[in-house]
Amino acid sequence: MEQAGKILKDIFGYDQFRGAQLDIIQALSNGQDVLALMPTGGGKSLCYQIPALMRSGTGIVISPLIALMHDQVKALKQLGVKAAFLNSSQSLQEQDAVKQELFQGQLDLLYVAPERLFSPGTMGLLQQVDLALFAIDEVHCVSQWGHDFRPEYRQLRQLVELFPHVPRIALTATADQKTRQDIVEQLALSSAAQFVDSFNRPNICYTIADEGQAREQLWRFLQENHPDDAGIVYCLSRKKTEDVAAWLRHKGRDALAYHAGLSTEQRADNQNRFLHEDGLIVVATVAFGMGIDKPDVRFVAHLNMPKSVEAYAQETGRAGRDGEPANAWLSYALSDAITYQQWINDSGAPEEQKIVERQKLDSLLALFEATQCRRQHLLGYFGETLDQPCGNCDNCLAPPKTMDGVEAAQKALSTVYRTGQRFGIAYLVKVLLGKEDERIIANRHDTISTFGIGTEFSNKQWRAVFRQLLAQGYLVAEKEGFGGVMLSDQCRPLLKGEIGFTLRCPPEKPVKKVKAKEKNFAVSVADRPLWEALVALRLRLSTTHNVPPYVICHNRTLMELVQKRPDTLDALYDISGLAAKKIERYGEDFLHVIAHTEANPLLVNKLSDTVNESLALFDQGLCVENIAEQRDLQLSTIYGHLAEAIEAGVIEIGAIDALDDQAIGEIVEAFETQNALETNQLKPSFEALDGRYDYGLLKCVLADCMYQQ
Ligand code: ADP
Ligand code: ZN
Repeated sequence: MEQAGKILKDIFGYDQFRGAQLDIIQALSNGQDVLALMPTGGGKSLCYQIPALMRSGTGIVISPLIALMHDQVKALKQLGVKAAFLNSSQSLQEQDAVKQELFQGQLDLLYVAPERLFSPGTMGLLQQVDLALFAIDEVHCVSQWGHDFRPEYRQLRQLVELFPHVPRIALTATADQKTRQDIVEQLALSSAAQFVDSFNRPNICYTIADEGQAREQLWRFLQENHPDDAGIVYCLSRKKTEDVAAWLRHKGRDALAYHAGLSTEQRADNQNRFLHEDGLIVVATVAFGMGIDKPDVRFVAHLNMPKSVEAYAQETGRAGRDGEPANAWLSYALSDAITYQQWINDSGAPEEQKIVERQKLDSLLALFEATQCRRQHLLGYFGETLDQPCGNCDNCLAPPKTMDGVEAAQKALSTVYRTGQRFGIAYLVKVLLGKEDERIIANRHDTISTFGIGTEFSNKQWRAVFRQLLAQGYLVAEKEGFGGVMLSDQCRPLLKGEIGFTLRCPPEKPVKKVKAKEKNFAVSVADRPLWEALVALRLRLSTTHNVPPYVICHNRTLMELVQKRPDTLDALYDISGLAAKKIERYGEDFLHVIAHTEANPLLVNKLSDTVNESLALFDQGLCVENIAEQRDLQLSTIYGHLAEAIEAGVIEIGAIDALDDQAIGEIVEAFETQNALETNQLKPSFEALDGRYDYGLLKCVLADCMYQQ
């Protein structure tokens, strides 16, 4: 397996295999069939790309997604791998040229759409050439149990008979037990080696927001965590994607809508912009994302409920494939859950299937209403256990309060019952709160015993109670389909007080922001000019070579360049993500930028990053008030930063405008009389000066005295 490691380093520029990669490569390169289940971002591509390079002949990659094919081939060519694709987007001449290359044995990898594979021309050709392997990507498409069944995948079974000696690897990021069995049967993979990687994506921080004001909450989430990052916002309807995209643009973000109602060109164009531009938000229906392997999507936000836990895992999995911190944020409304239940009721599907779908919905609601670690819950759903709470989800970072909710649940359920099991949540909450609404009076629901018995809770809290009753299956959508709820069979013991009910208490005010793990490579302020210069260089190179920036290199690579500041071509080989071809192409450009970008000497010091952040702004000439405003910090904090810089001798006291010589003299005199230097207490001096000077200013002068000593 030395050869595999060498290819990993020399061609792909990486030092270590991830997860099951090496085992898979070993099995496949020995000629064994493989079924690999790895999460999105797990690194599936290398599992067949490396064996294809190790074995003689061409590796055939079957992929349903044309856009993805193009991107992968582009990226491989950048690495010097001989790769091509065959699909319906090409002219006949282009296809012929590729076939010629294949025939002459000039290709390491050929990507083919499944329907193209079985066209007589292609099949005839494949039978004449040397083949290294078949890789069947997105293999869940072969199963009706999967979420993306494609009938043409069924034909792939023929490969066993047609090419008995060519090993096959089937790969997918989503396959529950049933789908997995189906894949094995459909593609005759019973003797294949199976590899199941953990589905944990530790770099993704999961957050389920409270109900209500979804857009405002989304905006706050974006401002706090992703002011200029690229990401995806999922909505259910086309119209909503348009509205939300327009709203984000109005708020000053670059945002585009993406849905099946757009023309093919428009969709391709929007997708392309997402890949190539920095910081673009795509507001999409679920149609978006499947064919995209942009590794630096920093967040995935949902403004509607996904369809199932599988769908949630898959959609959120599109964030942070590069392994850097990313956020999955979701806000859902109770009405989404009721709508889904009604869809299932009205679907006309066989009862058996409806039961499965209801269970899937219940599992999803249970995840959203969970009070424990989301990741443990999520992995548990996929049959994995995580021993410890993850520390990187909303419930871990800000544990929700819980309380005994039996009485509240009983009040809510009784209200549903006494109003005839046909009203929506908004109405029911009004009854509980005793609101004399016209409809309530007309229905004489102001006379029932639960009218006004719930004033101990707010509207929001009652909605949370209903949400949890629904999530736990005590309430279900009523049969008529008007958005009302009715009691389920489970209610009886709860109403009788025979079982408990724990309530997740939503905080009345938004909790202090929940932050995903800090970037593990936060760029220090001093390094920022170089970082920015390298980002700009990458963008230039990506435009010149017509590839997305991440194909030139990932952020991690740029960060290593900043930290190690290599100064020779040889030294570039030690940087993760850079290997021969890229160094040959871009090495000199990187070295040039590194050699010619000076750090701000003021910021090369031992002070902390936050101090330097303030210092950098101060150096740009901003006044203390403006710095405080821009950094959203207290004035006194900024003065504190400047004081630290003064004490360390990085700036001089005279640089602070509010302090002229006379003021300094006066303050120093007060310090002397009050013994401030010995006691380190500012208050006596502050009072002796009649409060004419801000504490922050005193702090700076004291720091200067310390420095002078
Ligand atoms: P998947 O298809 O499973 O979603 P990819 O094959 O697209 O994942 O890989 C995700 C990202 O991880 C890619 O950018 C890839 O270059 C990177 N990657 C894969 N394997 C490794 C590795 N062993 N070391 C470092 N990066 C890797
Ligand atoms: Zn957790």
